[in-house]
Amino acid sequence: MPPFHVAIVGSGPAGFFSAASLLKLKDVAVHVDMFERLPTPWGLVRSGVAPDHPKIKMVSAVFAKTADHERFRFFGNVELGKDVTRGTLLDQYDAVIYAVGAQEDRRLGIPGEELAGSVAATDVVGWYNGHPDFVSAPIDLSIERAVIFGNGNVALDVARMLSMSPTDLRATDIADHALAALESNNIRDVTVLGRRGPLQATFTPAELRELGELSGVYVDIDPADLEDITEDDLDAAGSIVRLNIEALRDLAGRDRSSEQTKRIALRFRRSPLELRGDTHVQSVVLARNELRVDGTNGVKAVDSGERDTVEAGLVIRAIGYRGSPLDNVPFDEQRGVIPNEDGRVIGGDREYVVGWIKRGPSGIIGTNKKCAQDTVDTVVRDIADLVEESPRDPDYRPNAVSVSRHPQVVLAKHWNAINEYELEVGKRSGRPRVKLCTIPELLEAAHAMGVSAQE
Ligand SMILES: Cc1cc2nc3c(=O)[nH]c(=O)nc-3n(C[C@H](O)[C@H](O)[C@H](O)COP(=O)(O)OP(=O)(O)OC[C@H]3O[C@@H](n4cnc5c(N)ncnc54)[C@H](O)[C@@H]3O)c2cc1C
Repeated sequence: MPPFHVAIVGSGPAGFFSAASLLKLKDVAVHVDMFERLPTPWGLVRSGVAPDHPKIKMVSAVFAKTADHERFRFFGNVELGKDVTRGTLLDQYDAVIYAVGAQEDRRLGIPGEELAGSVAATDVVGWYNGHPDFVSAPIDLSIERAVIFGNGNVALDVARMLSMSPTDLRATDIADHALAALESNNIRDVTVLGRRGPLQATFTPAELRELGELSGVYVDIDPADLEDITEDDLDAAGSIVRLNIEALRDLAGRDRSSEQTKRIALRFRRSPLELRGDTHVQSVVLARNELRVDGTNGVKAVDSGERDTVEAGLVIRAIGYRGSPLDNVPFDEQRGVIPNEDGRVIGGDREYVVGWIKRGPSGIIGTNKKCAQDTVDTVVRDIADLVEESPRDPDYRPNAVSVSRHPQVVLAKHWNAINEYELEVGKRSGRPRVKLCTIPELLEAAHAMGVSAQE
């Protein structure tokens, strides 16, 4: 098959796994150009995965290897819809793969949600991870009690980061501004609330066990939430849920020690009804739920009519991420994804989709590998005939973004300069990395060597 050219938009796991699958194809030399709106690659591996999970971030070494491939080019600080258009990409490439993830948060849709002190987990996670969009997110840590809505790993990540000791935080690559704020924060109590019960929670055992390892933190589980769970329930729920319940039972059986001055409480069967306060949130009104089996064999939470009011100065919704529409690309508003069949965009033109913007915001980093392979299989099937019929000149190279037209573009060598700088400053401070967190700082480090003038 003659060589062909693919644009990938987004440099998170889905984008990099797609690039790797394309570059390793045996019968065809695929050229891959990757466009990323930030000056930094890796998507949520850099800006989502918790700072105290360095092993998980090691997947970036795999992405770096892909980026070294001679048929791969990186174009950072280039946003589809702003710096480059869908039309240009379609003109210059044989196929375009959207790997833009899910950038927005889901809202609770209750009164008071707009009060100061009510924020999305996307803001908090972006803030502590140094995502440039969230450097100035209004995270008020002068308060004593935070409430987090959600029962997934993101809720537990946020609870852990808010409760971690300064010594442990300093050993991570947390953003400097977040480190400074968390070192002196007043939070003593974080309550994580789930709509349904422990059997329906989507967090995983390792994250639960980590809560129990935090120094100075007591994990408060109400044994009553666990006592009705039977062996049959656990058999039906599967091995991860079984391990979750074991971890919860272990935590529930521990006594609080005098050194444990902070508390993380996990409470179930509670839904938020209203956030109260004048301008700043002060309390949350909760409904107590009963669980009922619904028609599809799922379990749904039903308001029992009982109410609780909990004081809280910081309320964080960790109830899921959501994709957003892209420069005239077909979009399913209901599901917040790009509609597709086997990765092929429905209503698109040689356009494909992968990762969270294809499947919705679920699945771990590894899930995106199989997802990428599936999409790449579809790309190759679809465009084989096209490139056989009208092969491109072997020397053809797209130039959708050139340094002369977009001098602030961050090419691979510029990203390498940022990366080395962050690692070097980290080394000097005894930390894995010290992140640059604003676009001007990142561009200054990127172009410090004056390399922008040459492509
Ligand atoms: C808080 C959090 C913690 C997580 N922790 C873990 C964990 O510990 N372990 C684990 O295995 N998984 C974890 N995950 C899940 C994992 O991060 C996702 O499975 C994975 O990142 C999804 O990959 P993606 O490439 O689809 O999206 P993303 O990683 O979001 O990448 C999308 C990329 O597209 C870019 N982009 C967006 N719009 C445009 C545009 N218009 N133009 C150009 N570029 C654009 C974005 O800047 C981003 O770099 C976590 C997720 C979250 C939210």
